[in-house]
Amino acid sequence: MSCRLVCCTRGYNEILNKWKVVCNKMESPYFKRTTRSSIIVKVKVENEQLIPEESSTETNQKVSTKKRQKRPKVEIKYEESPLEEHQITKQESSGWEPPMWREQLKNIYDMRKSRNAAVDSMGCDVISDALASPEVYRYQVLLSLMLSSQTKDQITSAAMKKLREHGCSIDNILETSDQVLGELIYPVGFWKKKIEYIKRTSKILQEEYNGDIPDTVEKLCKLPGVGPKMAYLAMKCAWNQIVGIGVDTHVHRISNRLRWVKKPTKQPEDTRKELQDWLPREYWRDINHLLVGFGQQTCLPVGPKCYECLNKEICPVGKTNKKISSPKKIKKEELKEEME
Ligand code: SF4
Repeated sequence: MSCRLVCCTRGYNEILNKWKVVCNKMESPYFKRTTRSSIIVKVKVENEQLIPEESSTETNQKVSTKKRQKRPKVEIKYEESPLEEHQITKQESSGWEPPMWREQLKNIYDMRKSRNAAVDSMGCDVISDALASPEVYRYQVLLSLMLSSQTKDQITSAAMKKLREHGCSIDNILETSDQVLGELIYPVGFWKKKIEYIKRTSKILQEEYNGDIPDTVEKLCKLPGVGPKMAYLAMKCAWNQIVGIGVDTHVHRISNRLRWVKKPTKQPEDTRKELQDWLPREYWRDINHLLVGFGQQTCLPVGPKCYECLNKEICPVGKTNKKISSPKKIKKEELKEEME
């Protein structure tokens, strides 16, 4: 939950108490899911000169008897959350939630404690140049997301390293020939198609967005080669705005295996809508990263390591997955997957 308290230093306790009342009414902020979980609350103080500077008991007593009616007026103002600004993510909750999700999620957090999966060192935010100007950084985040589709993190990371050494700004990429660009990004998946997407997107960014990337999911999705998953992750990593969950193949697969969806979903977009329906907002920032790493290390696409998964007794797939139980068999499956 995102909360912002706007107040003057004087009368701080007064405001804090009001704030607690507000938070209790909202059944928040220490996380309890509400339909207003994303609300930003502003508490504004008026008549601040009436608040006693000294807070001795005596002074406070006087204030409480004589000046009680002149206490500062506290105005509570609800702002529209970023979520509500984007129609694409706005939806009513159905009230449904998976029965064991808290235990399952806690177990995944435990298994991901060391944060040593490929995504942890090669995620789109890590492989972009944080020291570059904000516009260039955001462009690199978008580019790394475009490159990452159908591509292993190691390959995306290597391509981004080459692009950055070459000079990864919009102007420079537009001046680079397709052939050189191909040499820089090869062997990312669908690299020929991605050259075209990168060039067309860069041109649009230069002409329509003043050399920056758009700051809404809707506009990002209109760029060539950019889909909802990339758009939500770009909003998070480039703009630091959590307006939805980025659902890629790992999140999609694991959500279905754990039955975090009411009915099996075919498309990641359906999974995103299902997850956003019940997953408390405080987890939205981390869920993609968490599950991607879990999918890279344990809940593999082929031959998930159920035998070492903390969820094996409470996961519908893990409970019945007797077929793949030995590390030897899993090694074989992994090798097969690598070959593919
Ligand atoms: S038990 Fe198996 S299928 Fe279920 S979450 Fe764990 S690794 Fe994935």
